[in-house]
Amino acid sequence: MYDFTIIGGGILGLATAYRLLQERPGASLVLIEKEQRLAHHQTGHNSGVIHAGVYYTPGSLKAKLCKEGAERTILFCEEQGIKYERCGKLIVATDDEESARLKGLEERVIANGLDYENLSAEALAEIEPNVAGTAAMLIPATGIVNYTDICTSMAGVIAKDGGEIRLGEAVTGIIESDAEIVVETNKGEVAARTLIVCAGLQGDRMAMMAGIDIDFRILPFRGEYYRLAAERGELVKHLIYPVPDPSLPFLGVHLTRIIDGSLTVGPNAMLSLGRETYSGNYPVPGDMADMMSFPGFYKLMARFAAAGLYEMRGSLSKRVYLERCRKYCPSLQLEDLQPMEAGIRAQSVSSDGALMDDFLFLETSRSLHMCNAPSPAATSALPIADEIVSRALRKAN
Ligand SMILES: Cc1cc2nc3c(=O)[nH]c(=O)nc-3n(C[C@H](O)[C@H](O)[C@H](O)COP(=O)(O)OP(=O)(O)OC[C@H]3O[C@@H](n4cnc5c(N)ncnc54)[C@H](O)[C@@H]3O)c2cc1C
Repeated sequence: MYDFTIIGGGILGLATAYRLLQERPGASLVLIEKEQRLAHHQTGHNSGVIHAGVYYTPGSLKAKLCKEGAERTILFCEEQGIKYERCGKLIVATDDEESARLKGLEERVIANGLDYENLSAEALAEIEPNVAGTAAMLIPATGIVNYTDICTSMAGVIAKDGGEIRLGEAVTGIIESDAEIVVETNKGEVAARTLIVCAGLQGDRMAMMAGIDIDFRILPFRGEYYRLAAERGELVKHLIYPVPDPSLPFLGVHLTRIIDGSLTVGPNAMLSLGRETYSGNYPVPGDMADMMSFPGFYKLMARFAAAGLYEMRGSLSKRVYLERCRKYCPSLQLEDLQPMEAGIRAQSVSSDGALMDDFLFLETSRSLHMCNAPSPAATSALPIADEIVSRALRKAN
């Protein structure tokens, strides 16, 4: 029997295994991942931004763990020789209304303890000649990294510290008793004293499998990107974000520098008809059935009908998508936008139709489940892992 089983080879499962073996050297640990490679889902399809922690409600777990997570991500990269860059981010207002909202965001930035600089239109044009705006806020702490590189590095340390990582093994059942917790997989059974689940898009199903009575479901939101043509790689020096629109639940399409030197625009936020359908937004019967049988889905749709239509228009028309980017980067042309694989976000939605904002941990006597880990959970992975580890060790003692 193992001391710990971890389900999920994304950044949260790996960070948890990495931190557990540091806290409990010699513990026996197995990490089970259904795909043939690590970071196959959200972690390997994200924007690669090391968020500074601008938007989050002051005092929330998200706000606290993001700021700490950004610092620790960079420290980890330095220790492990992983390429990262602190390029900074510009939040750009393009009219008076957005300038007023940007002013409002300043209070949050101050409350979250971040360094920032307000820029006039002229100052913005000086540092980013290809970006147009009436005002901007510079957040110097924001950076970029490839989170798959971080996962590969963590997996190396886990193996060196005696942890076992199994790929291509899918968990199909969880049976908990007083003495142990057994996970059933397509390859057999694995027994442990404590189970930790970081299953991303499947987190609600895993929690139900463990017998937890949940009041939410994970709904998948597709983030569609375009890669910019290689000759446009030098278009901007910072990450360029719009001022968030309070009527839209996600951040808005942004220009993101990628650590490999390329540049992307996106992601948008479309309801996905499948949880793992990267090649196109086609319906997956099981995923659709789960969604349609959940009352919170209809309440969410009613609440965000206008936002949904806005996103759908941008998804269906490359020209509409382009116009949204041209608001702050007018020189972009249709031919600059080249196809790129989408990412799919795991977003927990409560039965009253609200998007659950903060990180959510649920527990049974022998198991611990990460049930809502939206962005910036990749940035916050190390402090989230610390939280999971301290809860898991309390169970193990
Ligand atoms: C489009 C997009 C952009 C984003 N941008 C950013 C960003 O710039 N910065 C940031 O900080 N965050 C960002 N995020 C959020 C971030 O990527 C996620 O919060 C983070 O990757 C969550 O990690 P995870 O380990 O929980 O999930 P995942 O990476 O999804 O890993 C879960 C793993 O569990 C495995 N699993 C599931 N079910 C089973 C089973 N039955 N048996 C075995 N294994 C199973 C899956 O195969 C998967 O590998 C973004 C996300 C998306 C989708």
